[in-house]
Amino acid sequence: EKVIIMNNVGKVYSTGKNKYRALNGINLEIEKGEFVAIVGPSGAGKSTLMNLIGCLDTLTEGEYYLDGISIGKMKDNQLAEIRNRKIGFIFQTYNLINKLNVLENVELPLIYMGIPINEARKRATSALQKLGLESHLKHKPTELSGGQMQRVAIARAIVTNPEIILADEPTGALDSKTGIEVLNILKDLNKEGNTIVLITHDMNIALNAKRIITVKDGEIVSDSYIDKLKEVG
Ligand code: ADP
Ligand code: ADP
Repeated sequence: EKVIIMNNVGKVYSTGKNKYRALNGINLEIEKGEFVAIVGPSGAGKSTLMNLIGCLDTLTEGEYYLDGISIGKMKDNQLAEIRNRKIGFIFQTYNLINKLNVLENVELPLIYMGIPINEARKRATSALQKLGLESHLKHKPTELSGGQMQRVAIARAIVTNPEIILADEPTGALDSKTGIEVLNILKDLNKEGNTIVLITHDMNIALNAKRIITVKDGEIVSDSYIDKLKEVG
């Protein structure tokens, strides 16, 4: 079952008269349950590709199907709904809302989906328990360590049961020990059947995935399963 299909996808940014081609001829299929890393140097087009996969932006060429739904020409409000329902985001900077406590942060995507508050509270509590944060429900994000904040963000990402967990440099702001803990959480989530797409500039982090896609100058220049890399190496 293919969660992502991209056919000949391109992205051209237009600012005034200037046009900049950030992605060109991207062909990509990701199956349910995969753990894929997208790597490449700064400026390669990783964020642009992540924004397309995550329905934060739309393509200018080609076709993109997410869970069988054609995303290419959607309007912003439709895109926002699909994004909230199908994608769980994890960002380098956590992107938690500091005015809300931990529990409220994790409830938020469920509230957006129209789930009643009692049910949202139940599901958010259970996601936070899974991440070992049951004693921090009433804390504000600013009262937590970086690793704890990222675990809250992971709880928020999984609470909707998304089709894809999209993690953009999730360890970028963490010390290496805490970063490894976060990567282990992602591996465990993948073992439970979650589809994970990890965006990073760091090959050592990418090696935690099962498949590595390298992007350079807006194009996919390699796409391999790690087992095969190891056989060759
Ligand atoms: P990466 O995440 O791999 O660093 P990006 O996807 O952020 O790469 O950027 C790829 C290229 O597209 C870069 O040259 C960048 O300057 C350009 N770019 C990114 N966003 C925009 C934008 N909104 N408008 C114009 N150019 C952009
Ligand atoms: P980068 O990878 O370029 O450093 P970020 O990871 O901060 O940038 O964000 C990637 C993209 O996602 C940006 O276009 C940003 O505006 C958008 N974004 C960040 N946080 C959210 C959010 N919580 N909901 C929707 N879009 C977001």
